Amino acid sequence: MSESKITDWNQYGIQTQSIRAGQHRTPENEHSDPIFVTSSYVFDSAHQAQARFAGEQPGNIYSRFTNPTVRTFEERLAAMEGGERCLGIASGMAAIMSFCMGVLKAGDHVVCSRSVFGNTMGLFKNFMAKFGVETSFVALTDLNAWEAAIRPQTRFLFLETPSNPLTELVDIEALADLAHGKDCLLVVDNCFCTPALQKPIDLGADVVVHSATKYLDGQGRCVGGALVGPENLLQQEIFPFLRTGGAAMSPFNAWVFLAGLETLAIRMRAHCDNALKLARWLEDHPRIERVYYPGLASHPQYELAQRQQSGAGGIVSFDVRGGREAAWKLIDHTRLLSITANLGDVKTTITHPATTTHGRLSPEDRQRAGISEGLVRVSVGLEDIQDIIADLERGL
Ligand SMILES: *Cc1c(COP(=O)(O)O)cnc(C)c1O
Repeated sequence: MSESKITDWNQYGIQTQSIRAGQHRTPENEHSDPIFVTSSYVFDSAHQAQARFAGEQPGNIYSRFTNPTVRTFEERLAAMEGGERCLGIASGMAAIMSFCMGVLKAGDHVVCSRSVFGNTMGLFKNFMAKFGVETSFVALTDLNAWEAAIRPQTRFLFLETPSNPLTELVDIEALADLAHGKDCLLVVDNCFCTPALQKPIDLGADVVVHSATKYLDGQGRCVGGALVGPENLLQQEIFPFLRTGGAAMSPFNAWVFLAGLETLAIRMRAHCDNALKLARWLEDHPRIERVYYPGLASHPQYELAQRQQSGAGGIVSFDVRGGREAAWKLIDHTRLLSITANLGDVKTTITHPATTTHGRLSPEDRQRAGISEGLVRVSVGLEDIQDIIADLERGL
């Protein structure tokens, strides 16, 4: 393989990085990124095999460890997030699990936002707890609660911003300072914004988590995940687990994500434009009680969103007057929108959090989380905005 002539991608813009970073042409001189569909690799000699296995010589051994297509994805996403290193992993959840298995041991403690993806919460509550790792859950926006929850055994703070589905934000820079003052890592799941709209590492976060399944693919095709962070941490603590634990990203999926990344910044811009138009329309609608979107001046953290993100994102949530009945009526009257809990797709999706993504919470927990019976979440896609609006108007 010929190494790329460019080694420092920091000086390039994100669209250039997303199209160019990580490609190392083979002797075939292909222009597009190839897929390496191979489980193992051959050695020139028994001596070379020995040196590779001993870690004395770099190079591929087996695709559970490394794969050139996955490596291209890793280098590209690392450049885009501004991190030293990226690991491509089988899914977003496998990325979070691998991070936990790599850095945590019995007796350790984690502080996690209460407003994270349901399975993330389940991983900490139901599985990490079995291995003697305790997790405290705090309100995302309450910096005092984060500080109060940190113990000497705390290894990292974990959060998503904006949160799902209420689009609450936390000041990443402030939380990074807090974490580092207490010798903890700050881990940010950057699923909602992607590096096109928010760069947590530039703001002081140590590690970024991704579900590549969402906007990085952007067209609802493949399941995948990634971690971006310091070379030492990822190479010394996470990669050995990944190689042993086996949650490898498939080269085909990596190849699909590579194509997704090429258009990420452009798509995110278009998602933001459509979402803002929808949010403004909803805000003026008499049947809508409240709209949650960080791009609206009425959002309580509008200023922070303007400062921390370069766009407000593609997720709009709103309370419909009339509770569950009205919310379900709205959802059931759509013809174009997809009724599904997935998000980050070119297709607009609509979901009722109280009975789906947050259906397992007790009514009290749901209320505390601000998930009302009338709440509807829309992941705004790239269809013509007037068609999305017309589809929602019917049920209102
Ligand atoms: C979907 C999602 C995940 C999990 O990702 P998978 O690829 O489905 O495993 C994690 N975090 C957030 C915010 C998500 O939306």
